[in-house]
Amino acid sequence: MTCNLCGSEQQERLDLGEPLVRTGAYVQCPTCGLIYHSLPDSIDRMRDFYHSEYAGEYSASEVISRELALARINRLGKARALASLSPALEIGCANGEFIHELAGRDVEVSGVEPSRAMSEHARDHFGLEVVTGLYEDQPEKAAHYRLIAMFHVLEHVVDPTLTLQRIHRELRPGGLLFIEVPTLGDCQLSMVFKPIHPTVFVRETLEAMLAKNGFESLWIDEKGYHLQVIARPMEGQMPVTWPDPVSIRSRIKRYLATRQNVMDRIVSTLQALVGQKDGAIYGAGLNTLDLDNLFPLMQLDLEAVYDADPAKWGKQVLGLEICPPSELEAWHGSYLIISSYAFQEEILEQLAHLEKRGVRLVTLYEKS
Ligand SMILES: [Zn+2]
Repeated sequence: MTCNLCGSEQQERLDLGEPLVRTGAYVQCPTCGLIYHSLPDSIDRMRDFYHSEYAGEYSASEVISRELALARINRLGKARALASLSPALEIGCANGEFIHELAGRDVEVSGVEPSRAMSEHARDHFGLEVVTGLYEDQPEKAAHYRLIAMFHVLEHVVDPTLTLQRIHRELRPGGLLFIEVPTLGDCQLSMVFKPIHPTVFVRETLEAMLAKNGFESLWIDEKGYHLQVIARPMEGQMPVTWPDPVSIRSRIKRYLATRQNVMDRIVSTLQALVGQKDGAIYGAGLNTLDLDNLFPLMQLDLEAVYDADPAKWGKQVLGLEICPPSELEAWHGSYLIISSYAFQEEILEQLAHLEKRGVRLVTLYEKS
């Protein structure tokens, strides 16, 4: 196993702390600082994964996803006139919100999405041209696109260098690459170190990998958990600024310490609910599954899980039925746990009126 960024065969094991052992063996390259999993999945296993587990769990409510898509489009519009970005491709386009919004701004769009359920939604609901599958399996189109976007994808791919080289070939000169990956920022429960992320990027390693593969970064932003870059393909070699592995390592330490505090706070919040009658959870996504791993939720007296995504209604999570939030209007429980990091404040605002009826809204995250 060699480093995907600099090719070094040396690796230093990262100590992620006792409770995190199950997240696997992450290593850091002592030469360039890249953080990667020493036992990454094969591309075949990735295909299987995205066809099964991934399909049901990742979707957020449509309204919220639209807000996210609009924020990204807003950002892109500052870099380039949107109308000049046809044709555009989104790799891992999920339900298609981003390219749907782009299409509404006169951009010719298409997408690739490994999840069958999500790619179907993109086709049926938005009428988008979306292929079900992995980007790496599609026929290559040389110098074709003016925009390629990938949000929370590059950390999942088995060989990010190969993927970036292919993107470089598929972009026209002067085209744009818009990338977002999770990083060691803001601490939510969902962990950046998990085997489904073969590579964990920080700003310097992502920038170096882009430069090494012929991209010039035009704009970089790090907000909490998210690292965004807009870059363009260049001809020939780009100067690479090699990261400092020691400074990255100290950031990992800080990240893990902060995350431990977050987990401790969540456990004590949930512990305080033991013995209280008639509770429920808002949010049937991955966050709730992570929560259950941290603190077995069967210790609580929970009646149901509410979620804004109609695709989940009537299904079960943690042995509880998933119900539409409208049913909360007739619900007379005592507490409702808001199980979402990214949308905690929005959900709290939407449900504030329940408190007048005596429902206690329980939040799990402290945000500055
Ligand atoms: Zn390296």
